[in-house]
Amino acid sequence: MQFDTVIHGGLIATADYTAKGDIGIRGGRIAAVAEKLEGGERRIDAGGRIVVPGGIEAHAHIAQESSSGVMTADDYLSGSISAAFGGNSSFIPFAAQQRGQSVDDVIATYDARAARSVIDYSYHLIISDPKPEVLEDQLPRAFARGITSFKVFMTYDLMNLGDGGMLDILTVAREHGAITMVHAENNDMVKWMNKRLAAKGLTAPKYHAISRPELAEEEAINRAIQLAKLVDAPLFIVHVSTEGGAEIVRREKFNGAKLFAETCPQYLALTRADLDRPGMEGAKYICSPPLRDGRTQDALWHHIAQGTFESVSSDHAPYRFDATGKFLNGSDIPYPKIANGMPGIAARLPYLFSEGVVKGRITLEQFVALSSTNAAKTFGCDSKGRIAPGMDADIAIWNPEARLTVTAADQHDNMDYTPFEGMELTGKPEVVLNRGAVIVEHGELRAKEGQGRFVARQPVDLRGKPGWTAKEFDPAQNFGAELR
Ligand SMILES: [Zn+2]
Repeated sequence: MQFDTVIHGGLIATADYTAKGDIGIRGGRIAAVAEKLEGGERRIDAGGRIVVPGGIEAHAHIAQESSSGVMTADDYLSGSISAAFGGNSSFIPFAAQQRGQSVDDVIATYDARAARSVIDYSYHLIISDPKPEVLEDQLPRAFARGITSFKVFMTYDLMNLGDGGMLDILTVAREHGAITMVHAENNDMVKWMNKRLAAKGLTAPKYHAISRPELAEEEAINRAIQLAKLVDAPLFIVHVSTEGGAEIVRREKFNGAKLFAETCPQYLALTRADLDRPGMEGAKYICSPPLRDGRTQDALWHHIAQGTFESVSSDHAPYRFDATGKFLNGSDIPYPKIANGMPGIAARLPYLFSEGVVKGRITLEQFVALSSTNAAKTFGCDSKGRIAPGMDADIAIWNPEARLTVTAADQHDNMDYTPFEGMELTGKPEVVLNRGAVIVEHGELRAKEGQGRFVARQPVDLRGKPGWTAKEFDPAQNFGAELR
């Protein structure tokens, strides 16, 4: 059998097994996996290395305006390059609808922006204006095109849809096999806290963490899940940051809800103490939901190990520490006017590998599931996330012993800081492939602008998620079933 490339002598790790072996690649796909493979126009020696499916970054904000009009520092070129250096072969950033905008217009806008990507991509739509023509016409058209996930907000005045809006959206999603993602924080609790803090003149960055209580997340996660259960729709809770929220997710998953969730490295690595750095330095650590505390970190790691979360995602939201980003509204401003979010697309997998696998908190197989395989299943990337014949040759070759110190320059993004600066990690991706093409090799970019392709995605994979029928909609109870 002829191969374009053979990766040989490595330890192949998948979500199910780990074994020594060779991978033969032909025409951008994995053609063979075997103990020994001869040939290959190019042979890549993976001796002493771990060979995993390329990461799939399922939560990133790239070339996206926030609802208050701040543009992210990374476009699809710099964002995808940074992702590639971090061991990712594909990503699914957000395509955000502004109120009044049609979904067709949103997709056309992001298609133009994403044409520069060096890795494969899709979008999750963000829906902020679910008018009838969006629900009945535009969203189904987006699903048919392979955009099978979208996100809604329970917080932010310009974004949140209210419970009724969410029920409408969840129902449309269920009918089309799409999955609804939700940013769950109680909007009124946060607004009420903001008002109290402002009245007392407490506006330094550190008060951002106080203004968004853990209870605001826990309440909204619980509410979002009950809304989804009422209409038996799949739901994905993004960036879970609290122990209480994670406990609710675990309980409801156990009860059969069609529920998925993620957490992010910043909630594992940082705490609200980082918001209390001198001057405005704390602004770098403003994200929502906010950073919590050490006890929460331990609890979230426990939940990762126990399977509460499908994925660990970066929530890369790159706003520079200058007047284009964090300080678009001025330099000495109260925390509610500072742009929300921090970068992390390149640091996600080295952090998860080092703090997770190397420190013994998770297995190598769990690392693969959390970084790639589960995202592929949840978001319908059926040719990605696994090392098996027929799959896209999206592969990352890791040196499990390499030591690195995180610096902003090594992130290869368009940012002027990293919140993980100075962190000492073990293990890094040395060679990364996208559909068989080497895109990063020993610190050098090999990819060409625009070589990434749009991934048309399948409906959400609900195997293992039996669902839950509300009594009022249960045909056996013979009332209300026609409403469903
Ligand atoms: Zn986000």
